[in-house]
Amino acid sequence: MTTTPSGGARGTVLVVNSGSSSVKYQLVDPVAGEAVASGLVERIGEPRGAVKHVAHGGTTRREVPVPDHAEALRVVLSLFAEVGPDLATAGVVAVGHRVVQGGSRFDRPVLVDQHVEDTIEELSPLAPLHNPPNLTGIRVAKELLPDVPHVAVFDTAFFRTLPDAAATYAIDREVATTYRVRRYGAHGTSHQYVSQKVAEVLDRPLEDLHQIVLHLGNGASASAVRGGHAVETSMGMTPLEGLVMGTRSGDIDPAIMFHLHRNAGMSADEIDDLLNRRSGLKGLSGENDFRALHELVEAGDEGANLALDVYLHRLRKYIGAYHAVLGRLDALTFTAGVGENDALVRARAVEGLDAMGIEVDPERNAGRTDGPRVISPEGARVTVLVVPTNEELAIARHAMDVIGA
Ligand code: AMP
Repeated sequence: MTTTPSGGARGTVLVVNSGSSSVKYQLVDPVAGEAVASGLVERIGEPRGAVKHVAHGGTTRREVPVPDHAEALRVVLSLFAEVGPDLATAGVVAVGHRVVQGGSRFDRPVLVDQHVEDTIEELSPLAPLHNPPNLTGIRVAKELLPDVPHVAVFDTAFFRTLPDAAATYAIDREVATTYRVRRYGAHGTSHQYVSQKVAEVLDRPLEDLHQIVLHLGNGASASAVRGGHAVETSMGMTPLEGLVMGTRSGDIDPAIMFHLHRNAGMSADEIDDLLNRRSGLKGLSGENDFRALHELVEAGDEGANLALDVYLHRLRKYIGAYHAVLGRLDALTFTAGVGENDALVRARAVEGLDAMGIEVDPERNAGRTDGPRVISPEGARVTVLVVPTNEELAIARHAMDVIGA
């Protein structure tokens, strides 16, 4: 059990993010807002899995065969037993599971029971790469940690409030209904956490704020949040829609897919691979990491320069569109790997938007701190911020809320 400064005991939450070939985890103290331990099991199903466990200021690495998710979680639990912290005395009150697709069914985190498991399975066609491993993680964790409640936290839940006008694709309604084709969004846990944090930082009621949040990581999404409720988001039925991303195209004319199928003979799977893994920054420049991309730009690489221009053009278009959706804008916030670290992307994303009241102060933008900060000039009409996201902490706090702790 962790102890508070006053010596009292409080609970921790084990947060599990189970992907197709990896399991990420964090033992979180939701009250202190700290990770007590964290780690990652990669290359599940390959001959040699890679395991990394960070605790007590040290990192333990192992290369062992990890044939499946059950073994991955067993390895994690044995590392907790061996290296610490000891889960038996760490006061684990819940396990929080990240689940990518909650469809129209879940508008908030829920306690996992058989019905919830069945529903996550039923929603798998909408997220075939994500929901099945998420569910496997839940089932295995329940078997290995049967005495604590398990909570599912959905990436889509924050976007269940999207108005129909924003969530509906203009296609035949019967087809859309039968196949559950609508905009569900993604990264919702991050957009919700960050938009709430902005209200805290500005010391203003969340209900009063009109916000745009830009979650710019390897995946990227924008959201418009009015009074704490999402009213627009850039990801659609799947995380492929919207902004240009590390390896994903974002918005694209759907007719390009018929064109490639008919004229290049590409199958649905090949087009899926093209748009999800060989597009975006990587498709345009060969690099999906902004640090490498900037080096190429500085070396005069034409593809990298174009990639950056296309990325920023799309971003500015979304900022303008969401400003129109909201009518009034109070705060624009950058978060995730690129949004938190890349001053140049932030500066160029808002270039030319001063007529909309959006600008950044060069010195504030260039400065660095670990926590949230304002980067717009004093007295600016729109407050521009950098707010580090923390999905694990958000999941841990949701889990605490669900179990009523
Ligand atoms: P995420 O998906 O939020 O973990 O973000 C990962 C991405 O953040 C990487 O692919 C990089 O493009 C970007 N990134 C991480 N660190 C930096 C940095 N120091 N400067 C610029 N971009 C960064």
